This record gives sequence, structure tokens and C-alpha cells, in this order.
Amino acid sequence: MSKKFLYLFKEGHDAFGGDQTTMKNILGGKGAGLAEMTHAGMPVPQGFTITTEACTQYYADNREINEEIKADIFKYMGILEEQTGKTFGSVDNPLLVSVRSGARQSMPGMMDTILNLGLNDQAVEGLAKKTDNPRFAYDCYRRFIQMYSDVVMELGKSFFEERIDAMKERKGVKQDVELTADDLKELVKEFKQIYREKQGSEFPQDPKEQLIGAVKAVFRSWDNPRANVYRKMNEIPYEWGTAVNVQQMAFGNSGMRSGTGVAFTRNPATGEKKLMGEYLINAQGEDVVAGIRTPSPISKLHEEMPEVYDQFVEIATRLENYYKDMQDMEFTIEDGKLFMLQTRNGKRTAQAALQIACDLVDEGVISEQTAVLRVEPKQLDTLLHPQFDAAALKAAEAIGKGLAASPGSACGRVVFSAEDAEEKVKDEAWKKVVLVRLETSPEDIVGMQVSQGILTVRGGMTSHAAVVARGMGTCCVSGCGNDNDVVIDYDAKTITINGHLFHEGDWMSIDGSTGNIYEGQIATVASTENANFKRFMGWADAARQMKVLTNADNPRDAQNAVDMGAEGIGLCRTEHMFFAEDRIKAVREMICARTVEERKTALAKVEPYQEADFTAMYRIMGDRPMTIRYLDPPLHEFLPTKPEEIEALAKDMGMTTEELNNVVVSLHEFNPMMGHRGCRLCVTYPEIAEMQTNAVIKAALKVSAETGKMITPHIMIPLVGEVKELKYVKDVVVKTADKLIAEAGVDMKYQIGTMIEIPRAALTAGQIAKEADFFSFGTNDLTQMTFGFSRDDAAKFLTAYYDTKIYESDPFQHLDQVGVGKLIKMAAHDGRETNPNLGLGICGEHGGDPSSVEFCHNVGLDYVSCSPYRVPIARLAAAQAAIKAPRAMKD
Ligand code: PEP
Ligand code: MG
Repeated sequence: MSKKFLYLFKEGHDAFGGDQTTMKNILGGKGAGLAEMTHAGMPVPQGFTITTEACTQYYADNREINEEIKADIFKYMGILEEQTGKTFGSVDNPLLVSVRSGARQSMPGMMDTILNLGLNDQAVEGLAKKTDNPRFAYDCYRRFIQMYSDVVMELGKSFFEERIDAMKERKGVKQDVELTADDLKELVKEFKQIYREKQGSEFPQDPKEQLIGAVKAVFRSWDNPRANVYRKMNEIPYEWGTAVNVQQMAFGNSGMRSGTGVAFTRNPATGEKKLMGEYLINAQGEDVVAGIRTPSPISKLHEEMPEVYDQFVEIATRLENYYKDMQDMEFTIEDGKLFMLQTRNGKRTAQAALQIACDLVDEGVISEQTAVLRVEPKQLDTLLHPQFDAAALKAAEAIGKGLAASPGSACGRVVFSAEDAEEKVKDEAWKKVVLVRLETSPEDIVGMQVSQGILTVRGGMTSHAAVVARGMGTCCVSGCGNDNDVVIDYDAKTITINGHLFHEGDWMSIDGSTGNIYEGQIATVASTENANFKRFMGWADAARQMKVLTNADNPRDAQNAVDMGAEGIGLCRTEHMFFAEDRIKAVREMICARTVEERKTALAKVEPYQEADFTAMYRIMGDRPMTIRYLDPPLHEFLPTKPEEIEALAKDMGMTTEELNNVVVSLHEFNPMMGHRGCRLCVTYPEIAEMQTNAVIKAALKVSAETGKMITPHIMIPLVGEVKELKYVKDVVVKTADKLIAEAGVDMKYQIGTMIEIPRAALTAGQIAKEADFFSFGTNDLTQMTFGFSRDDAAKFLTAYYDTKIYESDPFQHLDQVGVGKLIKMAAHDGRETNPNLGLGICGEHGGDPSSVEFCHNVGLDYVSCSPYRVPIARLAAAQAAIKAPRAMKD
């Protein structure tokens, strides 16, 4: 039997046994809602849904609707004619339909709609006669020509709108509704004339041709640029496709007892339990959206048409009770009769989502676990960062757009270097700065910390600026040069973005949640302390099976993360501690040392700093575990670059500038990400591992003695690709640690683990696990090395990959579950086979990304570790994953 591509609204519920997920997958959200409302006996104009699978077929058939589906469409039109008693294309009693998109997940405003389809020069006369309302008939026809020309033929809207405006001016009226039947008749003539000029043919009179054209246009709109952007933002797979709903028209424009509107069962901004909505009398759907006339609040309908209002309230209540969630509904009133055109779970702000979830639990409608599934993890972000004032943002126009690298909003005066940021903020007038850089480097950390926000020209979602900003909870827009025309001039201290010139000191506003860049100041409001948040997160924590740790390398971030619910530190990157002004000199001496003795002397200067840092961190973390990762980046990152700095260091080290220059040159790497870094540093300079072990163990001993509770240090060796490499460094660590512990005369245990961030480590995980107490998947490097492209450069070409649909999302942001995920799965399995007690976690940026967290749960990891501000997101994502697919608990 051939596949069924069409379903009457009447058939939808029974065909899928009322299973909402399957219905949405096949019929799309709108189609599923229409089928359910029909099944419940609600007033729905009848029609049918062409499935999402037909859309996939359309693309498989090179953007054509095949003959079989076409035949089915006409067959279903025949059934609709019987249901309605009207005839498609008839002159006396024409059947008019709307053709609307409806994907599995709603994508508001992203795809296309055509109304009043089926009209032509004869049918419009028939409609005028039948309704005895020529004004209405010609209003429908002019709307149809306008929409068809825009959506199906892609001629744009402006020509038509200009003609309407000109007509209103000629007639001395302000509103469309004041135009008479004759005026509209005249407009129809003009519109057809425009169509002829632009298209080179007559406006199609055959309703069948119109219908196929419209269905194709809706399928095509799945691939339009705004839909593609929306899909990428919301992780909606391209392969899903959209369904198309063909539905008998209900006319909201047939007079003063008609209208159209939108309503929510609860307030989508605050969550308040109160019907909220708007409607317009004598109008069709697009008039509400276009904002030409101001709609009335739904409460007014109570006065204007009390019976309709009561019926609507009754339906709204039934729908919310049925779906057990806030509904977003569209309706039309035709000559005093109510029709429902859509119901779906409404989009809402984070604040509203929490309020509604808590209220529904209190009302006994849903369980706590169901409530946990009702809030999108990503949304929690907006509760935790300052936001632009909504009204101010609406009034502002973005001048460019980069990557939404770290959420929140920032408004400040532009500075072009981290040093300038540090210096300027001391002045009251410069208290708020936005740091604008080509890219940032670890040295910029302090300047970044004092900035309201960071804008970089280069770099992706895991570029330095992005990672560090997220860690600090600072707003960041990265890589704005990827898709915009950007010129930055450090000497002149200017940046030009798409023709807009900023000098140092000019005000700029950036939105790290959208990537938008604005000129001038936009007011921000502090993030909301949400009373429901704690309660809701309590339910999430009860449900989840993975621990949520954080990536933090300073006491401030660690405290922040603990406040956000982190249960420990999964990654403390020690190199971030090296850049402070008072220690970089000793670090540089260590790197440029000519002999082991010189290196040891320099390391001895660094050690107390490290020990002090670890001590401070242990004090904050209390009983919570902390994994300290040994030095990882290539050494050249620490070296001075300015001639005066090189000269000063040479003097300090008793070298000539030339000698030091030679060292610097010798440390240059062609591909530093694959060069002398990670555990390779400790293989070449075991003294570094010794120094770091000394610092860790001494700090742990000190804090254990203070608190009376023995700490178990977790030491992590980065970038291992071969078990012997790990063993070599581990031996140094063990020897150093054991000596200190013995000297202290205490029973301190410690763990030594490794990062799995090189494909070879994943491939040989079974062997590596023999020497490791735990694995932490470093998916930043693992993604980089599996794909073979650099994490700092990929943003340059990934846009082309999205455009060509080779990749749908940034693999540094959302874990590539097919490739990199396969390595993780394999390494976790092989590692546990050799070492059943092996701890497993992830500490790459993916640890804070909801779909990646779900993957980690499903492959059996014990924890995820992410930047502090993402901790609540990871907690919720882990809870949702556990509710959807609970894992067998370990003993
Ligand atoms: C990683 O590679 O995923 C990781 C966490 O380490 P880093 O980002 O410091 O290289
Ligand atoms: Mg790494």
C-alpha cells in the first residue's frame, strides 16, 4: 500500500490513536491541534493536512509535488466540497480555502500562509451575489492576489501596499475598512495589472493551479532564510519538513459581526492565570500581525458579542484542560459564529514558564516531573543575566549581528584593549565599557572582567572570548566579522560595522542572547530573582541522575557556580591562574629557562602562587570535589610580544635581548593546538608536574587540617593520547604526592585521571583506563581533532556549511553525536570494561548544552561540568534526560 500523505482533520485523531507525539510528527503542530479540536467537536472549519512526509517527498522530488500526491490533494478537495456543500472554482457557490504551514514545532512567522484561495474573476462575482456583500467579496479577492503574488510568485508586497495607500489618499480615508466595494474592485484591477507587468502573464484563474502553487510555496518556505536561521537557533532538524493545512475559509472580514484574533489561556509574559488576547473586528489574520489597526483586548468581546465570548472561554478552558498546558489559540468570528483555527502550547518567557509550571502542579493538573519537562533549559539563561528593557529594545535597530556567545545584555563605551578597559573603568564617566577586540587572549582576562560586554571580530562559540565570558557570566558577541562588513583599526581606535563608525568612548549595546549589535545606549534591567526558580529546580534535582559540576579557576567563579547549584568543580584550568600581573614574570622565566636548574628556580617562584590559589578554591568548595587540570596550553601563549617586554625579561634573566628573542622564535608553533602542549609539557619538563603536584597536595593538606575533613584531590592530566604518556606523568605525580602525604603523616587519598580529548585516547580507552581513576571528555579538543578543524578558526567557514546544509549547527556548541559522540560512547564502554570503577564526565563546552547533556546521560556519564552560569541549565537538562529515559541506578 502506498504511503498516506493526506489526512482529513476528522481522521487525524483516530489514525494515530490520539498519540500527540506521532500526530505532531506527521501532521505538524497545527494539523495535530486542528485534528484534536475536530475530534472534540469544537467549531473548526473543515479541511485536511498534507503531511510533513509529503514535504520531505517534495524535496526528494527536486521541489516538485508528484502526480500521486497531486491526485490525492484533488481527491481530498472533493471530500471537502461534500463536507461544505460548496464547490472549488464554482461561480455560484465557491469553496475558498486557506493554505497554511505547520511544522512539528511551531516556528512563528517563519513560513508562509495564503488566504482566500479559489477566487477568480467569476468566483468573486458569485461570492458577492451569494453573500449579497460585494465589498467583502472584492476585499477577499484583492487580499488573495496580494498574498499569492507575494508568497507564491515572490513579487513582494510593497507594490500592492503602495496602491492601497494611494487609493486611500484619493478617497480621503484612513483605514482599509473604509474603502468601498467599488474602490476594492478598482484595486483588484490595479493588482492584476501589477501582476501582469511583473510576472509577464495573467493572474492564474484556475483554482487547481492556484492550490498546487500555494502548497508548493509553503513547502518551499521551509527552506527560506528566516526559517533556516530560526531552525538553527532552536535546533530543529531540516529533515523534519513542514505540513500544510488546507482549510475552508472562515471570514473575519465579512462585516461588523465578524473578526479575527489570538488569545492565550494564561499570560505568556508573566504566567498569570488569566485569559489574555486581542482581536480585530472586520479583519483577516494578517491585519492583526501587520499592526495597521490597533486590536481590542479580548475582554471587550465580552461586551460586543457576549455569547461568542462565553463560548470562546469555554473552549479555551477545555483546551487547556485537555493539553494540560497554556494554549495559544487563533480564532475567527464570521457573522457572529465562532471558529477555531489553531491551538498549540503557547510560547512564553522563562518567568512565565516557571509560574505556569508551578501553578499547574499546585492546581493538581500535572506532576512535578511533568512540570520539569515544561521549561526549556536554555530559557533559564534569561533569568540569570541582566536583560535589555523590552520597550527600549523594541525601539532600537540592530546594525550588525555576531554569534550569541554568552547571554545577557551589555551597554557601555567602546574600548579597544583590555588594558584600556582596566584603566578607563577607574574613571566614573567610563564605568561601563564594552571591550571590542579582533579576538581576546588569556592576557585580557582582567580587562574582560571589568567590561560589561565583549565584542570580537573573529572566533566562534568556543573561542577564548566566548568560553571565558560564559565562565564569568559576562555578555559576549563573538565573530561579528564572519557575516558583517567589519573594519577594526587599533591605532585609530575605531571599528566600523556595516558602515557604522565607532570611536573609542562611543556607546555601544550588545545582546549576547541574540548576537545583535546596536549603536548607543539601551537601558538594561537587573535579572529577576524568581521565587519559583528554587522550587522548580528542587524538582529537577530530585529527578536527575548525573551530577552537575562546573568549570572554574578562580574563587569568584567557583562561588558563583556553587550559588547556581554546582556540586563541585569538574575542570580547574590551572593556566588561567598564570596570567595575573604578579606571576606572569615567573611563568615566563620558567618557560625561557635554559637549564633544569633555572627552570626549577622559576617554578619555585610560581609554586606558592599556585598553592595559594588552590587553597582559596578548596576553602570555597568545602566537601565538594575539585578536579585540577595540569598545565595545558602551548607555551608561546605566555610569552611577551612587545619589544620593551622582551627587553625587560631578558634583563631579569641575565640574557641578551637577542638570546631571548631566539628562545621566543624557537617556541613559535605552526599549529599550536597540535603542538607542544598538554601532557607533552610534563613529559618534556617533569618539573612542571612536580611543582603543580606540590601546590595541589600542600593546599589540600592545609585546608583538610583547617576543616578536619580530609580532601581527596582529583588531578587531571590533559591531552593524553597514549597510555604510556599518562603513566609517565602519573609516576611523577604519585612520587611527589606520596612523599608530601607521608611527611604530613596523614591518610590522604587522591585520584589521577585524564582528559579524553584526542581521538587516539578514545580509540585506546581500554588501555588508558588501566592507569586512570577517571575520564573527563574534553569535547572542545575532541571535536576539533575529530573534525580536523581548529576551534578558533571554524567560524570563518562554518556559515557556508550551514548555508549548504552540510552541517546544521556548530559542532563546538552542540555535540556531534554521530561522530564525536561515537568516540565518547566507545571510550566510556571500553574504559569501564577495563576499570569498572572508572569515573566518567565531560568538561568541554558541551557540558552546558541541553541536547549534549541529554546525550551524556544516555551514554551513562556520571557528571557534566560547565561554566557557572550554565549550571542551572545543565541541572534541568540532566533532569529532563533522566525523566525521558531513566538509567538503571548503579549500586
Ligand atoms: C576541552 O578540550 O574540551 C577542554 C575542556 O579543555 P580546553 O578547552 O581547556 O582545551
Ligand atoms: Mg582541551
